[in-house]
Formats: sequence, C-alpha cells, structure tokens
Amino acid sequence: MKRKQTNMDLYLRAFPKCQLCGDFAAEVHHIVPISKGGKDSFKNYISLCHHCHRRKGLHSKWHEHQIELLTKKFYNELEVLGETSDEYSDEDFARLLRQHLAEEKAEKQKI
Ligand SMILES: [Zn+2]
Ligand SMILES: [Zn+2]
Repeated sequence: MKRKQTNMDLYLRAFPKCQLCGDFAAEVHHIVPISKGGKDSFKNYISLCHHCHRRKGLHSKWHEHQIELLTKKFYNELEVLGETSDEYSDEDFARLLRQHLAEEKAEKQKI
C-alpha cells in the first residue's frame, strides 16, 4: 500500500535544498516545536540538511533561532515560488507546491 503523502513530504520535494546552507536537505524541521505549541503547518516548516538540523540548541533553544529560520524560509520560498507560505492557508499552499512541482517536471521533460 502506498503511504499517503504528507504536507511535510510535499514541502521537502518542493524545497530539496537546506534553507540554511544550500546542501541537500534530508528533513523538514518545525521552527516552533510541536511540543511547544507549534503547528504542523507549512508556515512552521523549513527543510534542513542533516548537519544544520543537528545545530546546537536548534530544538532546545528554538526561540533563539526562530527569527533567523523564519527569515531564511521567507526568502527561499520567495525565490523558488515567488510566494511565501505566510500569505496562504495550508490547502492553498499545498496546491501551489503541487503546481510548482508539476511545472518543474514539465520543464525537465522539455530538455
Ligand atoms: Zn544545511
Ligand atoms: Zn527538528
């Protein structure tokens, strides 16, 4: 049985590069941890490489990193999509990401 694709999977496919260092991203990080009231939503996602995700204090002192991560995320989303998750509901942003991925795929098939 095929696993249902989550919003996190979708985000990682659309942003396959670490939004901090530009390396290959391995995982999606919640900027505000779920355990601290963060939402499982596009607005709270950032894709990170294995190395950046293990940066000291990223999880324990998340509030110290919050502004930096949100800023990087904002500019990365703007660069890749021309839009940011700030302005969208999760459903609408998911639609935008799917559209972006479909366009990317079509672009690759042209070459
Ligand atoms: Zn990184
Ligand atoms: Zn994390």
